[in-house]
Amino acid sequence: MTVSIVLFTSDLRLHDNPALRAALREADRIVPLFVYDDGLRATGFAVPNRGAFLADCLVDLDTGLRKRGGRLVVRSGDVVDQVRRVASETGAERVHVAAGVSRYATRREERLRDALDGSGCRLVVHDAVVTAVAPGELLPSGKDHYAVFTPYFRRWTAEGVRDVLAAPRTVQVADVASDPVRPRAEITGVSPGLDAGGENAGRKRLRAWLSGDIAGYEDGQDDIAADATSRLSPHLHFGTLSATEVVHEATREGSPGAQAFIRQLAWRDFHHQVLAARPDAAAQDYRSRGDRWRTNKKETAAWLDGRTGYPFVDAAMRQLRHEGWMHNRGRMVVASFLTKTLYVDWRVGARHFLSLLVDGDVANNQMNWQWAAGTGTDTRPNRVLNPVIQCKRFDPGGSYVRRWLPELAAVPDRFVHEPWKLPDADRADIDYPDPIVELAEGRARFEQARGA
Ligand code: FAD
Repeated sequence: MTVSIVLFTSDLRLHDNPALRAALREADRIVPLFVYDDGLRATGFAVPNRGAFLADCLVDLDTGLRKRGGRLVVRSGDVVDQVRRVASETGAERVHVAAGVSRYATRREERLRDALDGSGCRLVVHDAVVTAVAPGELLPSGKDHYAVFTPYFRRWTAEGVRDVLAAPRTVQVADVASDPVRPRAEITGVSPGLDAGGENAGRKRLRAWLSGDIAGYEDGQDDIAADATSRLSPHLHFGTLSATEVVHEATREGSPGAQAFIRQLAWRDFHHQVLAARPDAAAQDYRSRGDRWRTNKKETAAWLDGRTGYPFVDAAMRQLRHEGWMHNRGRMVVASFLTKTLYVDWRVGARHFLSLLVDGDVANNQMNWQWAAGTGTDTRPNRVLNPVIQCKRFDPGGSYVRRWLPELAAVPDRFVHEPWKLPDADRADIDYPDPIVELAEGRARFEQARGA
């Protein structure tokens, strides 16, 4: 009897999973394995919001496998030790895993390969599982990655994505012990408005999206109050949805909204291929601008708490705490505010986002923070987003601001974007701070620092 292991990482799904399909094709029995990895926990990446979403994903994966005659095998400890142990307990000949792009993921691959070397068990790494197009598959001549999105997107569109694989009908699992899945209820410190995880929840959300708001995405993606984006990012992060399948489904839908949505999925691949080629960009400037960032504890604390006095910034920061998710327009504005208006290091913001975001992802988070700070791939690195103009433009009626800042609920429309302009008598009635910085002053400081 032949046995193969599928090590699930960022691909917690049965549909369109090349690693799972390869294992099933070649072996009589498989071990669908998930390891609660001590090494990953030590990096600080395993935060409550992602832990809770992960718990849902594992329960759902186990249920899906059981419906097909199998089950999920769970272990805890160092991922490499656990894989080696399961391989020796079952006599597995191969371990299948999805290729990752972070330094942690590539190091894990190297360690697995070394550990299995000479054991009679071989590691097989699968591309285009986490992303629709594998990092490194599209390259400009003479370079190891695309540094500008538009030419990347042109190639990405021209080349297309691989075909979708069906979910298996039956799964036979080797006889091997498993720890229990850690229930979501045991995880403390989770944002109260966190979404449910799991492949089923992801597929339901995808279906609703395809038959609903996707058609209006081109115009509606920045309407922050309407909340009319897909909210598929956590599912793409945990791989409960395949990016490849989502591209195919959106292509079939075919509306201009779907085209705009597919473009965003290509941004995801773009950031992954940048990080794969430049893993140091997770912590270092991708393009140094010679910044000597300010440290200002009081202003940074106000930003973290959603008490800067700028309603759009504060509403978005409170949404992040409450839901473990933030609308993209909010992310862009709060990131510009921290890195440009306050001129505080992008790593401070990226760290905070990763501590809360359910979709928190090294490639997308760090590369978007660098984009916002002007140290990344933005071709206009010194642009500064004005949070008042952004608020008037993308939340004209102020309903997003009022949703997250109840203290501004009764403020009349004409003041909701700029509550400091309220007459003194009315201002005294609301518990909302004055702006911590003048926008013009922040901009001048930033432009001087950058020599812009
Ligand atoms: P939709 O608008 O429905 O877009 C569909 C999908 O396209 C998203 O789910 C996502 O996978 C992808 N996408 C959209 N915009 C981007 C983008 N700018 N870069 C890369 N992929 C994109 N996204 C993450 O998935 N994880 C992060 O940790 C993350 N951190 C960010 C930090 C900052 C400072 C900024 C400005 C953006 C960040 N993003 C991140 C990108 C983007 O904000 C989210 O992907 C998006 O808001 C998720 O919501 P949605 O699924 O409704 O997106």
